[in-house]
Amino acid sequence: MTGKSPVLLVTGGSRGIGAAVSIAAARQGWAVAVNYASNKAAAETVVSAIRDAGGEAIAIAGDVGSADDIGSIFSAVDQHFGRLDGLVNNAGIVDRVQRLDEMTPERLDRMFRINITGSMLAAAEAIRRMSTRHGGKGGAIVNVSSVAATLGGGGQYVDYAASKGAIDTFTLGLAREVAAEGIRVNAVRPGIIDTEIHAAAGLPERAREIAPQLPMKRAGTAEEVADAILYLLGAQASYITGAILDVSGGR
Ligand code: NAP
Repeated sequence: MTGKSPVLLVTGGSRGIGAAVSIAAARQGWAVAVNYASNKAAAETVVSAIRDAGGEAIAIAGDVGSADDIGSIFSAVDQHFGRLDGLVNNAGIVDRVQRLDEMTPERLDRMFRINITGSMLAAAEAIRRMSTRHGGKGGAIVNVSSVAATLGGGGQYVDYAASKGAIDTFTLGLAREVAAEGIRVNAVRPGIIDTEIHAAAGLPERAREIAPQLPMKRAGTAEEVADAILYLLGAQASYITGAILDVSGGR
């Protein structure tokens, strides 16, 4: 089936920033493929919210840390929508707060496989479908980095910060690689955003606790990051590629 609406795949679209992107994108007329890792109920809640508002969406399970799963996620998009116009590489993880000398090789492998390799393999699949070089009609990719890439994450999670540094560099390079093929590649660098990701680091109150130290004295919302991502995906950003937009309230 090839529909009229442009199609957007959001990795990790079931919760947090990805859920906000999925809902905002649907409101702007995108048909949305909402990828999730394990929380099917959360993904279905996002899909229902989109459908109830008259939009088009499906939920697709798959771990971006698995090359096989990435293949099956894109096959599901092909089967259901028959086109792809945008990708938001949003799925990402943190891990418990640890010093480098406490981290295991397994932790580092998982961090880089999900946050870096997953984003690169998903972008490759998107390019195979969207690039004019491959007979596509062009499109846009937005990678979700973090202000941690500029701060380094020392004493908290240098592995996570380094993975996001890689995303910044990847964004710059890929943008130039596919610029003449109708594909724009940009990134957002969120600061402290109030989502459930902090609980995974053992810091469930992080957004509230750190707020007084932030320039704007508050954490950001997932919706505020989604607005920036939607801007970079859309026609208003038609001459923007290789940009990294801080969405950090000045952090
Ligand atoms: P979140 O609330 O923890 O949500 C994470 C989402 O990613 C969920 O939908 C989850 O799916 C999905 N996911 C996790 N691992 C996955 C995998 N291996 N394969 C596919 N999907 C996976 O996180 P968030 O705060 O919205 O963060 C989203 C992105 O923003 C991440 O890249 C993060 O690094 C970045 N970021 C966040 C902040 C912040 O302060 N929140 C700041 C800077 C950057 P399930 O629902 O199935 O678990």
